[in-house]
Amino acid sequence: MKKGPEKKIVKRSSACAALCGILLAAVLAGTGCSQAQTTPADQNRAGEKAAAGKTAPETDAGTAPIGKNTGETAAETAATGETASETAAVGETAGDEFSKPGEEKDYKGLIVIDPGHQQYGNSDQEPVGPGASQTKAKVSSGTSGVASGVPEYQLTLEISLKLRDELEERDYKVIMCRETNEIDISNSERADIANDADADAFVRIHANGCADPGRSGAMTICQTPGNAYNGHLYEKSRALADCILDAYVLATGINYEYVWETDSMSGINWSQVPVTIVEMGYMTNSEEDLNMQDSQMQEKMVDGIADGIDAYMVQYGQENETEENETEEDKAEENEALENETEENKAEENEELENEAEENKAEENEALENETEENEAVENETEENKSEEKDAVENGSEENKSEEKEAGESTYEK
Ligand SMILES: [Zn+2]
Repeated sequence: MKKGPEKKIVKRSSACAALCGILLAAVLAGTGCSQAQTTPADQNRAGEKAAAGKTAPETDAGTAPIGKNTGETAAETAATGETASETAAVGETAGDEFSKPGEEKDYKGLIVIDPGHQQYGNSDQEPVGPGASQTKAKVSSGTSGVASGVPEYQLTLEISLKLRDELEERDYKVIMCRETNEIDISNSERADIANDADADAFVRIHANGCADPGRSGAMTICQTPGNAYNGHLYEKSRALADCILDAYVLATGINYEYVWETDSMSGINWSQVPVTIVEMGYMTNSEEDLNMQDSQMQEKMVDGIADGIDAYMVQYGQENETEENETEEDKAEENEALENETEENKAEENEELENEAEENKAEENEALENETEENEAVENETEENKSEEKDAVENGSEENKSEEKEAGESTYEK
């Protein structure tokens, strides 16, 4: 929030973006790396210009389909046979599995990762946003590494799977839009996965391409504040874009390009949660391409994105939940305190009772012992008395006997 609006980043240092559209359309059309059709960034740049009626180059293949097959295409794409329903099913599964209402959150946040593109693009059209008449390809096939030969969809999946693991390590819950390249899932369907899950952040992983092989660096993309579909999410999305880009370039040393604000990305427009596209670097720059294939660098890339998500979540992710959590924590603490108090009281009471009981017992025992002793004493006394008495009696009788004897004798004698 603080960073977003203040950071005056060149919004259109897209000299190259335009260039990408023009040159790649001309140079690469018909090749596997048809930039204008393939990289949503470029495609959307083209689309944006077309929409804005600005400098949309006629040569830009990306502009061609947009605005032409409006209503029909939308209906057509909505009803597009098996693949569409297949992908819809994927979205449903992901959504249903993880977005149980009322489910308790015992994790830092819920992140939906969209590994950009797929093995085969789907040029069927879908609206660029909810209710939009303008359409775009459901999903393009992306760019590819000039030096590595690795297709973008492969790199984005590889990084996304590592990012998933890293985020899970950091106690996030993660939902993947795809975990395989052999899938057909459109950009709006990917956004729906994030929407259905009510994700804290929808992070779309891409790599960039440009006709200028010298161009390098990373950028992130989000909507403008005036986006017709989700402008209200601008602040959070911009913060997410800033946090990730800042942390990413810090971790990787990859050149900082800029945060691109645009309303031409279907996957962003369809998103009803904070969203950003991460363009990790240029696969059309041989050095950067190979750099992004290095496993140590990939670790840094993943750490950087995860650090950015962490930073965002501290600011925004649990903004509302923090209070709730605090209250719950307070409650928990209170309860614990009460419980402890009660237990302490109980313990004290018990101790007291025990002491009392022991004292009573001791007293009783003492009393009993004393009594016993007394009894013993009495008994002893009695015995003593008895024996004394006996003695006395015995002595007495003997005395008497002897006296009697004597008397008798004497009587007899007398
Ligand atoms: Zn891409």
